[in-house]
Order: sequence, then structure tokens, then C-alpha cells
Amino acid sequence: MSTLRFDALKASMNRDAVQLKNEPKRSLIYGDHVFGLQKMQIFLPKNTFEKLIKAIDKNQSIGRDIADQIAVAMKEWSLSKGVTHYTHWFQPLTGATAEKHDAFFETTNDGFALEQFDGNQLVQQEPDASSFPNGGIRNTFEARGYTAWDPTSPAFILGTTLCIPTVFVAYTGEALDYKTPLLRALQAVDTAATAVARYFDKNVKKVSASLGWEQEYFLIDKSLAASRPDLELTGRTLLGHSSAKGQQLDDHYFGSIPLRALSFMRDLEQESILLGIPVKTRHNEVAPNQFELAPIYEEANLAVDHNSLLMDLMKKVAERHHFKVLFHEKPFAGVNGSGKHNNWSLSTDSGVNLLAPGKTPMSNLQFLTFFVNTIKAVHDNEELLRASIASASNDHRLGANEAPPAIMSVFIGAQLTKVLGELEGVTKGKLSPEEKTDLKLNVVGKIPEILLDNTDRNRTSPFAFTGNKFEFRAVGSTANCANPMTVLNSIVAQQLIEFKKRADLLIDKKGLKKDEAVFNVLRDYIKQSKAILFEGNGYSETWQKEAQKRGLSNNANTPEALKVKIAPKTVALYKNLKVMNQIEIEARYEIAVEEYIHRIQIEGRVLGDIARNHIIPTAIKYQNVLIDNVRGLKDIYGKEFKKYASEQLILISNISQYVESINSGVTAMINERKKANAITESIKKAEAYCNMVKPMFEKIRYGCDKLELLIDDELWPLVKYRELLFTN
Ligand code: ADP
Ligand code: MG
Repeated sequence: MSTLRFDALKASMNRDAVQLKNEPKRSLIYGDHVFGLQKMQIFLPKNTFEKLIKAIDKNQSIGRDIADQIAVAMKEWSLSKGVTHYTHWFQPLTGATAEKHDAFFETTNDGFALEQFDGNQLVQQEPDASSFPNGGIRNTFEARGYTAWDPTSPAFILGTTLCIPTVFVAYTGEALDYKTPLLRALQAVDTAATAVARYFDKNVKKVSASLGWEQEYFLIDKSLAASRPDLELTGRTLLGHSSAKGQQLDDHYFGSIPLRALSFMRDLEQESILLGIPVKTRHNEVAPNQFELAPIYEEANLAVDHNSLLMDLMKKVAERHHFKVLFHEKPFAGVNGSGKHNNWSLSTDSGVNLLAPGKTPMSNLQFLTFFVNTIKAVHDNEELLRASIASASNDHRLGANEAPPAIMSVFIGAQLTKVLGELEGVTKGKLSPEEKTDLKLNVVGKIPEILLDNTDRNRTSPFAFTGNKFEFRAVGSTANCANPMTVLNSIVAQQLIEFKKRADLLIDKKGLKKDEAVFNVLRDYIKQSKAILFEGNGYSETWQKEAQKRGLSNNANTPEALKVKIAPKTVALYKNLKVMNQIEIEARYEIAVEEYIHRIQIEGRVLGDIARNHIIPTAIKYQNVLIDNVRGLKDIYGKEFKKYASEQLILISNISQYVESINSGVTAMINERKKANAITESIKKAEAYCNMVKPMFEKIRYGCDKLELLIDDELWPLVKYRELLFTN
């Protein structure tokens, strides 16, 4: 090797070394910006720390006495990190996160200055809450909402601000956020699942739900995105002809990550790790410029907070890398949209995953109990589960042959289908010793310890068992996971309560042994919930027909899907479990309906504006160029001119036709909007927006997209799909 080449190689290796040195080992910086339990233990007196742990375990709020001490510790730690401000960080029903910063800085009467923060500021804050959606819970003149620290989610530093995760409630006590009902649902599932888990292990004290989300997103060059009013105002392109090359070649999925995107990801991951978000996986997704990020799963409440925080962080980091990150479920027609799979399971305080098969027949019976009860819960509440993921943007994705349909079903794979089939045949009442042995050895005993590698990967199922967890795949990429997680944990809690009641009855009244009782109830549940199990292609039309026969709901759009949120059955469920009261339920329903209306309304306005202010004027400009050209040809060729101008004449006439159809489309849409706006009942208005206004978008878009192909590229006022999807 020549010395020159050797030097060059050494230099490049040094460069790599420098680069690697700039990225500290992740395990060393993990959670450095979080005031987690470990740090609290260092900063807090021993008995304060113990009281805090007790409050966290029991889901209780912390008392004033320890709040003061925690606040002082938090402040000291924050100041040591250069923090100047603090904020209560919460998730109002807008879907975004909210913060209002206050400085630690205070002045005293005698003119001294100091940094101040005590229990009062930690436990309770009163943000001016009148402008958050409240679904009528709070009148604006009573604009009082309180935020209070949720000790199950630790404080963290963002920039130079200490963020304290809080719940957000009205002064009358009703929840105004996503977190409060989620915490109540997690409490409900803890109580119910612990009682059932104690059938199998008396030492279980607590059961926690875990959540591992997978966030899909698009990264678009910021300046290109900024030139599209539709992307800026609605998060998706309302028009745009598909690019000559899209995702046909499947060359993006799992391909090598473009350098610019990778640099964004590394920056983002570094910040996530500092904030204690255990990010793990990154890869290219199916569509061009589409990517995915997934962390290691965590306790569900923390995982929900971390997802909200991450989405926030992504926008900020993207800004630094001159990207715009798109979370919309369908930003581009014709290529795949984005989802957010929610992997969910239950595990005990002793670390046993209740949805993972075990080593012994008894632990497998425990697995089957939670497995079958989850299936039964989904079966009985499929419509509510569907409602939990309903949004104007997710409507584009569900049932569009790229994501699960709007019909909920459960996929469990061939092996477990066989096991359930055998369990179904169990004798009613007492079991003979032979049958018991057979069950233990040949059915329950044969559930493979690790199903992971054996579960088929049916990507078309909205709710699939994947070896040691269920994967709820219909959740949209913009969603706050709290909503689906509140529903899932509530319905499972309710189901487990019913299960325990029935099994106890068989044990106490019929004298059955515990395992006999469990087998008996599971047997009935398997029979009752068959309709929800589906192993085939969820995208197919035959499934639509089959599902209808089975009596499963198929609510294709949001207004239809939302109705069940206020059905008597739903109200009873939430009331029983103390997850939400009638007022809280109705408020969330109202907010969801209103949001739907607003989203479609905004899209309609933006589309109308772009069509009339951008597209039509451009079309006319180009048409005039053509007209001049034809005139010129006429000057030159006289009567013969048509020989040379025939194509131009066709173009001129086509442009006129499209301009006319776009214009009449916009007028018709505006008329429909006016009609819809005159409707007072909100759900009726939402239906009008869904069924009368939204379909008008198609005609307008069609004309615009046709013109995009006809008009001089230099004149076209919008950045095209080609650039948006293939620049990185
Ligand atoms: P993919 O769906 O992309 O093939 P996986 O099915 O391997 O990926 O899902 C991985 C996700 O599941 C990760 O986010 C991981 O944290 C999560 N996960 C794994 N085990 C559990 C569990 N017990 N509870 C919740 N989430 C889990
Ligand atoms: Mg997945």
C-alpha cells in the first residue's frame, strides 16, 4: 500500500473515530435529563422517598408534606443542569401537548432575587384553560382547570425547561385530558388482572399493562413542504398527481437509510435517550421518504407520555435538519400511509408476562386465561375498539388495502386456533381424572413455550397475537395512544371481572376445582367469541361479506364509528370501572365529533383556495400562451394553420373543460358546506361533512391533477409528488 493511500485510509478512520466519539454510549446517557426514581433516591430523604414509592404503587396522589421536599429536590437537580423554567406538561384533548413556562426566578419584597419552587407549584397549577376543548364540561367563564403531577411519570428537561407530566382536570373534578381516564383504566385492569392472576400465583400484588408503539412518519424537505399550503395547513396533500415512480419497485422498504434522514434519526435518538425514551429500532418504511421508529416497550402510561413527547421532539429536531415531519395517516394519495401499531400485554410485579406461554401446564393455563379473556373482550366490544381509533385522517387509511379494515377481528395463528378448538370440547362441569390429565399433558402442556417464531405474520389483521403480546395495528400515526389504550385496558378489566365472578361461582357453589372452573368458563368464552377470530385476508371483499354475516360492525367513517362512544353499554362500562362518568364520556364524544367537522371544513377551504387561487390562474396563463402560439401559427400559415396547431387546440379546449369542472366543483362544495354549517346537531353536521362535503373533493382534485399533467412544469405553482417524495 502506498504511503499516500495509507495516510488517506488512516485519515478516514480517524474521521470515523471522531464521529463515533461524538456519540456517547447510549447506556451512559440514558435518562440523564429525567428526574427518575434513581435520582429521587439520591436527592430525597429516605422516608420521603419511601412514601413516594408507596403512592406510586397504590396510584395515590402525594401529600403536601412530601410534595414540598420533592419540589426542592427537583429544583436543585434542575438548577444543577442549567434549567431556568418549569412547566406542567399535559395532554389536553386537542391531541397535542400543552405547556406554559414559568421561571424559577422570583424577587422578594426587599429586592433580592432567588430561584423558587415548592410543593404548591408541583402538585397543583391553574392554567387558563378556557381555550382547550372541553366538550361543554366547563363554561368559559369558569375557566378553571387544574393540573397536578402524575408521580407515575417522571419530570424531564426539555431545552432549559423542567417539564412536569400532569393530569388536567376541571375544578368540578372531570378529566379534561387523555391521561386521567387512562390512569383510571390502568388501575381497573390492575385490580381485575391481579385478582385473576392470584388464581395461579398467590404472590402477585400488581399487574401492569405494557405498551410498545411503532411510530411511522414521513420526512419531507422543509422548504419544499412550505410551498404547499395543503401540507402546511392540513398535514396532507389535497391534490397532486402521482409520481411516475412511486413505491412500485419496493426499493425503499428496509432499504439503506438516506444519509440526511439518518443524521436526523441519530440526533433524535440521542435526545430521546437523554429523555429516557428507550428508542431501539429505525428503518425505512414502504413509501418513499417514509420511516419508522420503535422503542423498547414500557409501562403503558409512561409509554403514552413518551410517544407524545417523541412526536413533539421529532418536530423540533426535524426543524434543525430542515425537514418537516408528517404524522398524517395519508399525506400522499397512491402511496402507503402511516400507522402506529400498539403492542400490548399485561405483566405481574414479579415480571411474568401474562400473555406469554410458560414452562408448566399451570403457567400455560394462566396464559390461556388472559389470552381467551382478551379475545372475549374484543369480541364483546369490537365497535368501541373501532371507535377508539376513529379520526378524519385515519379514515383514509383503514380499509384502503394498506392497513387493516374498519372491521375489528383477532388473528391468533394456526397453533393457537387448534388449542382453542380442543379446549372447546372440554366437558361441562367436573372433569374426569383422565380428561384432566389429557388436557394438562396434551393440550395446555403442548403450547410451545416460545410461540414467537411460530406465529404467522398476518399483516392484514387489526388485532393480532404475535407470540407474547397483542398488536393493535389499526391505530393511526397521529393518534395519542391514550385513547386506544384506555379502551383496551377497560374492556379487558371488565372482562376479567366477569370471568372471576363466574369461575368463583363454579368453585364456591358447584364445588369445582380451580382449574376445572377455569377450563369451564374458558370453554364457554371460546364458543361465544368465535365470530371475532379471523385468520384470512382482512383486505378482501369476501371478508367484508363474511364479517357482516357474523354480525361484526363495519363503520367505514368517523361519524359512524363515534356513535358507540355514548351508547348505554359504553356508559355502563366506564361507570362500573370508574374510568369516566357520563359527563366525561359525552364531552369526549362531542370533542371528537367537532374535531372531525373542523378537519373536513379546513380541508375544504384549503382545497377551494388552492384550486381557485393557484391552479385555475396558472391554467389560464398557460392557455393564453397556447392561444398566442396558435395565433402566431395562423399568422404564419394562414388557412393551413390547423395542420400545425391541432394539438394546441385540443390542449386549449381540455384546459377549459378542466377549469370549468374545477370551478363548478368548488362552487358545489361551498354550497354543501353552507348547508352543513346550517345544521345545529353536531353529529348530523359531521355526517353532512362526511357524506356531502368530502365527496366533492374528488372532482376538484381530479381536474387539478389532470391539469398538472398538461401544464408547463415551469408555471406549475405547487411542488409535485416527484420532488416531495424523492428529495432527501
Ligand atoms: P414489527 O411489528 O415491526 O414486526 P414486532 O412485532 O417485533 O415488530 O414488535 C416490536 C414491538 O413490540 C416493539 O416496539 C416492542 O417493544 C414491542 N413489545 C415486545 N414485547 C412487548 C410486550 N410484552 N408488551 C408490549 N409491547 C411489547
Ligand atoms: Mg408491528
